[in-house]
Formats: sequence, C-alpha cells, structure tokens
Amino acid sequence: MSRILIQNGTLLTLGRPCRVLEGCALLIEDGLIARIAPAAEIPGPFDRVLDAKGKVVMPGFVNAHMHFYSTLVRGLGKAAPSHDFQEVLTNLWWRLDRQLTLDDVEVSAQVILLEAIRKGTTTLVDHHASPGAVIGSLDRIAKAVKASGLRACLCYEVSDRDGQTVTDQGLEENAAFAKACSDARDPQLRALFGLHAAFTLSDATLDRAARLGHDLGIGFHVHVAEAASDVSANLKMHGKSPVTRLAAHGILGQGSIAAHAVHVDEADMETLARMGTFVVHNPQSNLNNAVGIANVLELVRRDVRVGLGTDAMTVAMLEELRVGLWAQHLRQDDPSCGFMELTDTLFVRNPELATQLWGFPIGTLDESAAADVILVDYDPPTPLDDSTALGHLVFGISQATVDTTICGGRILMESKRLRIDLDETALTARSRELAHGLWDRF
Ligand SMILES: [Zn+2]
Repeated sequence: MSRILIQNGTLLTLGRPCRVLEGCALLIEDGLIARIAPAAEIPGPFDRVLDAKGKVVMPGFVNAHMHFYSTLVRGLGKAAPSHDFQEVLTNLWWRLDRQLTLDDVEVSAQVILLEAIRKGTTTLVDHHASPGAVIGSLDRIAKAVKASGLRACLCYEVSDRDGQTVTDQGLEENAAFAKACSDARDPQLRALFGLHAAFTLSDATLDRAARLGHDLGIGFHVHVAEAASDVSANLKMHGKSPVTRLAAHGILGQGSIAAHAVHVDEADMETLARMGTFVVHNPQSNLNNAVGIANVLELVRRDVRVGLGTDAMTVAMLEELRVGLWAQHLRQDDPSCGFMELTDTLFVRNPELATQLWGFPIGTLDESAAADVILVDYDPPTPLDDSTALGHLVFGISQATVDTTICGGRILMESKRLRIDLDETALTARSRELAHGLWDRF
C-alpha cells in the first residue's frame, strides 16, 4: 500500500462551493484521497511526504474535448487561405488527418500528454481522426496514455466524408476499442462512441453507430452546430437541425457529449437539457475559426450541462477558461456577466462529466475521490478564502506554474521534473522527424 502525505499547502477543493482549507494535509492511499485533516491527526508511516509550502494543492483539471492528433500541425500553414469554417476543414484538417500514420498518431498523443502533465490537466476526453490509418489507432493512443500515467476517454470520429470503407472501419474501431476497454476496466482509460458531425454522416451511418453504441452501453462524442454551415446543411439535406436529427437517431442523451453547440435555437437547447447531454464549450477554437461564440449563459439558464474543452488549442485549462469568460462578456455586451456560469464549466461540470465517464469521483478534492492532485506555485498576494478563491484561480493561479502533478496516486511530475519513464528529448526529435514527413505528404 502506497501512502503519500502532502502538507503545509493551501488546499483548494474546486467544485461548488470552492473551499479554501488552511492548515490541512492531504493523504493519498492507493490512488485515492484517503484523508484531508491537520497533519498531526494523520499517523504515519508514509512512503513520501511532499512539502507544499508556498503552493496551492488542488485537483488536476479535466479537458472535456480534445484532439491529440493535431499536435504535429504546429507551425504548418493551411494549403490555401480559408474564408469560412468549411474551408478550414478542407484546406487543413481533412487534408491532414488523411495523411496520418499510426506512428504519427501515437507520437502526437505522447507529446501532448507530456504537456498536459506540465499544465496539470490529468483527465482528457479525446476525439480522434486518422482516415488513412483507422484500425488500431485507438490502441496506439491508449498506449501513449498508459505511458503518461494520465486518464483519457477515447473515441474514433466516424464520418462518411472518406467513403464507405473508412466509415466501416471507424464503426469497427470504436466498437472494438470500447469492448476491450470495458473488459479491461483500466482506471486510466474509458471509451465513448465517436462521430464527426451530423453534416458528414448519413442517416444509415447514424443508425448503425446508434445500434453499436447502445449495445455497448456507452455514450457518443460528436461535434454539434459548431458552424452555421452544419445547421444549414442538415436543414437542407434532412429538414432537421443537427440537434434534432442526432436526437432522432438516439445519439444524444445522458453520457453523450455535444461539442460546441454554437448555433442552437431554443428547441435545440430544450432538447439538450431534457436529454441530459453534456455540451462542451471550446471558446478559443470557436474564436480562431470565426464560427461564433456559444451562448453559454442562455444554455445554462435553460439547464443544459455545459463543460469546457479546448478542441486542441491548448491543454492549459485555466487559459481556456479565461478566454471563455472574456468571449462571453463580448457576446453578451456585458463586462460583469457569466463569472459563475463560466467557472462552473471547468470546476463543476467537467468533474461531473469525468465522474460519470469513469464511474468514480474525479476532479474534486474530497476524501475517497481519485488522487488526481496538482501543486501550483502560488503565494497569494491578496486574501485567499472561500469568497475569493475563484478570482484567484482566474486572475492569479492561471498565471502560475504547476510544480507537481499526481494522477491516480502516481507522481508524474515533481518539482517541475517529469517522473515518468520516457526520454523526452528523443520523443521530440522523433516528433519533428514525423512532422517533417507528414508536412511533405500534406
Ligand atoms: Zn473538435
């Protein structure tokens, strides 16, 4: 039995209310937070004692929508200037993903997972595409996840955009991985059934995916109403909005993720709320692609569960949260709106999503929750208490450096040094080499 004591730090629980606990130590036992109490009340012996003086101790972050595969695109320009979202897809992402090999896929994941450790993001919900190398792709990502020590929920984004064979392979890849995942019950890995977006999926494919997903007992992870073009294409071809159409095929609902939901009307919001679908807001990506800014305030007002993802723009969740807050101020033309709604996405809804996917508490600093814990260098220059904690997170802790990252009770980084069995220099060299080849093929 492994016992780690973290003492002398300031504990931030996240969740609602976000509490600040002074004078408390935290005991990790066998991958769980076993005790939060004054150090004198926690008897030894311990395998490790970590001194968190001058640091805040808080749960690792959850990223609710991510694409590991986009890592090797860093620095690559689009094939042609893109004037709208459809051109961003055809000039960049759909050209790129077709060229990915299984090695590219694995190395992309390895690189970005190391960055996630550095930024204190310990759980990631990924959405993968590599139409030229579908079969076995999720296993290769899972291998990278295992080596990183982090948690990830994986899926393959099925789409009809690359022809019937690739569609069939996508369906098969999701089903095979989800089956293996449920058999293995590995606490690091979970599966959802991935779909690209309604505008690249036929009714027949949606029905096949729904049947497989329901048989496996898992939810779906799909882009929904990211750009206005998704809505107009679905209305034109099927006479239904993406939300209505996916719901009609049994795709949305409890345990499913609808990424984006930028262009949803009142009926769509009502459907998402009624079905208990998790909407994941990705503000930096939406701003970058100029597709619009989701009306988070209205979604929340209508009881839609809204979490926060990065769509691969970053793995630094507090950075994404800040942008989400500024973007909502601009959208609502109100500089003081939305603070609770936006902070709830990261500190309340994302932990709820991870807890639902994994089946045990993740993302809160509570006894018996998963020991996914980070230590951040932060000596507050203004009073830090329950009433000011969220302000410190957004304006101060977001700018601070993560010192130590622990996931499932395993120390992955300590004093800013990675403690996993991986040669980082060799990995980045390999990544540059693979990127070179990928860019040539692109
Ligand atoms: Zn996405």
